[in-house]
Amino acid sequence: MIQQRLKPLSIKRERPDYPQVNYVDDRGVQWIELNRGCKRLCRFCWADPNYKVFDIPRIIRNKVQIIGENVMFDPNIEKKLKKLSEIKVNNKVVYYGLGNGFDYRRVTPEIAKLARAARIGNINNKGNWYKGVNLAWDLGINQEYKVKKALNYFLNVGYYANRSKIFILVNWEITLKECLYKFEKIKAMGLR
Ligand code: SF4
Repeated sequence: MIQQRLKPLSIKRERPDYPQVNYVDDRGVQWIELNRGCKRLCRFCWADPNYKVFDIPRIIRNKVQIIGENVMFDPNIEKKLKKLSEIKVNNKVVYYGLGNGFDYRRVTPEIAKLARAARIGNINNKGNWYKGVNLAWDLGINQEYKVKKALNYFLNVGYYANRSKIFILVNWEITLKECLYKFEKIKAMGLR
């Protein structure tokens, strides 16, 4: 079993600027970008440290996949969630996916409530929406309590554990032993 910590690589994270992502895929799901990058500067991550936020573009589909590395650094995230919750297309509500999920260190019970009201969940590769939340367990096993606490905020407002995902990052900072420990803990939280 590999347990020694490996040396970090040097990563160039700044990306050239490009227009806000906004398109409809061949399943009819609209993809929009609400933020780009992340302010946390984790040494193992490619996220651009020049954090940017975008306004909500015109929503034209009832299923919308939101991309962007760390939506929780958007200073207007609460207002945006509220606005997303109110948008209708063809008189029907909109269901959103949040692929990169929520930063477990910044979520609050209020954010979970607003996300639930805005129907922020998961959209799978067939374009189906599920009431699950995505979180990433980025750091070591000492984050277990915080990850569990964040997950519970979402479960308490009606998200399903077995439709939720917690990503485990595999890199030189986290040993395989720690990853396997996280895997068992995530299963014990009711995630599949
Ligand atoms: S918090 Fe996540 S997105 Fe942000 S730098 Fe760290 S790994 Fe990347």
